[in-house]
Amino acid sequence: MITSTTDPRPADFADVRATNLAVVLRFVREHAPCSRADIAASTGLNKATVSSLVADLIDRRLVRETGLTENRVGRPATMLVLDGSPYAAIGIEINVDYVTAVAVDLSGERLLSWRRSFPGAAGTVGQAMATVAGIVRRVVSRMTKQERQVLGLTVGVPGLIGTDGTVRIAPNLGWRDADLCGDLTKALRDPGFPVQVDNDANLAALAEHRFGPHAGTANLVYLTGEIGVGAGIILDGRLRRGGQGYGGEIGHIQLDPLGAECRCGRLGCLEAVAGIGAVLEHATISPAEVELELDEVVRLARGGDPGTLGVLDTVGRNLGKGVAVLANLLNPEVVILGGYYVPLAPWLLPAVETETRGRTIAPDAGGCRVVASTLGYGAAALGGAARVLDSVDSGRLPRIS
Ligand SMILES: [Zn+2]
Repeated sequence: MITSTTDPRPADFADVRATNLAVVLRFVREHAPCSRADIAASTGLNKATVSSLVADLIDRRLVRETGLTENRVGRPATMLVLDGSPYAAIGIEINVDYVTAVAVDLSGERLLSWRRSFPGAAGTVGQAMATVAGIVRRVVSRMTKQERQVLGLTVGVPGLIGTDGTVRIAPNLGWRDADLCGDLTKALRDPGFPVQVDNDANLAALAEHRFGPHAGTANLVYLTGEIGVGAGIILDGRLRRGGQGYGGEIGHIQLDPLGAECRCGRLGCLEAVAGIGAVLEHATISPAEVELELDEVVRLARGGDPGTLGVLDTVGRNLGKGVAVLANLLNPEVVILGGYYVPLAPWLLPAVETETRGRTIAPDAGGCRVVASTLGYGAAALGGAARVLDSVDSGRLPRIS
């Protein structure tokens, strides 16, 4: 039976208020320092409502008055900025041989940044879970000592993550159908904050969207340049995951039916012909060795070694074919290359750009720019914290303690 009512119910008021609080909070984040009058003028909320909402946000210590005033016609206006100092958002990135942990406050100020070695591929899921839980407990204890309330935790994993936080397949870790989210919540003994699990490329895209030099770009794609290649896709300002959460697996688009064999067993996938494995001589070496060998590739490229430059040109062209698929299909404003692509970017980018322009039907590749990430190897961990902050922005405000 369908029922409808025109009487507002208490729940409606609460929903409207939470939505309006989030609207004001987002406005302050994007426009601080700003006055109550600025907020009213831009959001369409009336001044009395804005004053009440701001008072609530100040009580929650999400916003504070600066003491600065702006003299306009009439009374001077007190300026507002984000506070959020009593809060922390935590992001963790699990990789094949290391775990990165990042904590930021509400304004994105970095509170902590740890990187620990970790036998991800060699150990079991249970061991990995215990290691991650141990790191999370230490981060939480550090935040508690600083009298900060933890708003949430997001763990990034290189693999297919279901919408329920289950790791369906993480090939480089050797994980399959691991209930990381549920098991971690149990291991942390109901920590009192939400725990989420997401794909590493998705989180890195969120980090770029909130903290990177292209922050706020509505149509942005992040390409991980690890052993695998995945895409985090932001369209019209929102991360797009697809029906079951498995979108963005651009690494397994076939570029060459006769190309090298991919780890997935198929031939000529993008990550087989444009991933870091296609740059290095030894595709099966450990990640620590990858970094060493990569340093050698950079040294040779700087010295103008023709063989190395040839390999990088080929890999750049193959990567450009993949970027052209993105440009034709999604029309992103910027494609950001992360991970191991970053040190190689000076040699990859010219070929990537030529190929992208040549293969995109829209003039000038539809305005698509290809750039190297500046967020470093911890981008996905930072994105984990960004996802927590995004949920605050969208209305999940911390309770007043
Ligand atoms: Zn493949």
